[in-house]
Amino acid sequence: MDLSAIRHLVTEQTAAFLAAGEHRLLIDNEWVPALSGATFETINPATEEVAGRVAFAGPADVDRAVQSARRALDDGPWGRMTPAQRQNLMLRLADLVDANAQTLAELESIDNGKSVALAKAVDMTLVAEFFRYMAGWATKIEGSTIDASVPFIPGAKFMTYTRREPVGVVAAVVPWNFPLLVASWKLGPALAAGCTVVLKPAEQTPLTALYLGRLILEAGFPPGVVNIVTGDGPSTGAPLVAHPGINKVSFTGSTEVGKRIGHASIDNMTRFTLELGGKSPVIVLDDCDPATAAQGAANAIFFNQGQVCCAGSRLYIHKKQFDRVVGDVAKIADGMRLGPGLDPQAQINPLVSREQMQRVCDYIQIGLEQGATAVAGGGRGEGTGYYVKPTVLVDVSNDHRVAREEIFGPVLVAMPYDDLDEVARQANDTPYGLGASIWSNDLTRVHRLIPKLQAGSVWVNSHAMLDASVPFGGYKQSGIGRDMGRAALDAYLETKAVWIAL
Ligand code: ADP
Repeated sequence: MDLSAIRHLVTEQTAAFLAAGEHRLLIDNEWVPALSGATFETINPATEEVAGRVAFAGPADVDRAVQSARRALDDGPWGRMTPAQRQNLMLRLADLVDANAQTLAELESIDNGKSVALAKAVDMTLVAEFFRYMAGWATKIEGSTIDASVPFIPGAKFMTYTRREPVGVVAAVVPWNFPLLVASWKLGPALAAGCTVVLKPAEQTPLTALYLGRLILEAGFPPGVVNIVTGDGPSTGAPLVAHPGINKVSFTGSTEVGKRIGHASIDNMTRFTLELGGKSPVIVLDDCDPATAAQGAANAIFFNQGQVCCAGSRLYIHKKQFDRVVGDVAKIADGMRLGPGLDPQAQINPLVSREQMQRVCDYIQIGLEQGATAVAGGGRGEGTGYYVKPTVLVDVSNDHRVAREEIFGPVLVAMPYDDLDEVARQANDTPYGLGASIWSNDLTRVHRLIPKLQAGSVWVNSHAMLDASVPFGGYKQSGIGRDMGRAALDAYLETKAVWIAL
């Protein structure tokens, strides 16, 4: 790519990585081109220019990667390593992520559009801490001893215990909104459990996964433990998840693709974890300070340009405070500065792609046509780059498409409500169930509301808080299974029951 415009803004490592001709696949610890020789371009959303040329893996490359992962599991040194050795490799990788955090954040920004400062402070910090958290589990995988009764053989005695074993070769299919962070949510528990992995980054944002591949080699992981295949959904992702050599699929992305992956997985009885879309409500109770609620609501939707699966995209405000809170959110939105992720002053960065920008603008238009009023934003930002102005829509009801469908952009719909039961009903009136937040200091009402909400996470006086130790995932059509926490590790382990007749 032409680096002249940004060379002074990025580290030498970032510039050198971007200057490389073609970014190759990582298979068996070797950087290889696709067997077909095919490549694709990844675009910088701030400049609309090519950020890199990347190998385009097809089914034959996927097959090579799966075979390499299988060999690493069955015959390689990885399968013979002690849990402490796996832990130490993961800790080394976490240290390398920290040491390269600036470069990783710059590459994430150039590929995805997001702010370098936030990518470093949020994404890369969480990646390193996530690997550390999961590294700790490697030495704490335990089965149990069971005193079995066996009533149909009088006098029989058995020694019975369970072993937790790695589920096998894992296909990790990840999206473009938090490219490296979501990859780490899959790699962390898989490696802690002793699995091997074929990672497929999103076609819009392959760069940080490939840079992580370098760090995986530097950390000293044996060949085949982590393979990285870049490409799109139909040619790369679909043959990967349908490959009979895959034992588990871990997917984060849209509900539509998640369902397809679930169906493909069942055909081979492949285990799967799906973290899918959302339309998460932000519920402001009438005791909440309006300014606090407005800032909280703005952060809940505009962080990462709204490209967050648990973004607070529906704002429910008690009717007494509706005008005041909406007015404040609109003021915050209008005051946000649009600019590239490399500009530390910019508060709203470009969306990931032209296609995504168009999709979000189309949704705004659909909202306006169905009767909504834009009290802030309302369309595309001016100039080069895939910008959408932070937008707040009112005069919306729960049956409008903008209130029902996941927009995945900086678009908020705000609706008034009367009482607690009504707002719980409205909040749950959606196929999704990923997150919800409640803004109030009235403990009694907050605790009455929490059990009523159909959501995998409920945040009180905050939104979209994440930590390696806390399970994250969806109710209803927002997914199956959990990322993070102990629950995530379990999904990468099989249970073997052992019976010894005494
Ligand atoms: P988005 O709609 O936000 O682009 P997707 O759910 O389409 O999100 O994509 C998330 C990830 O799933 C990407 O890595 C994409 O390439 C991959 N993907 C898309 N379609 C399929 C499929 N049929 N099988 C496997 N992976 C797919």
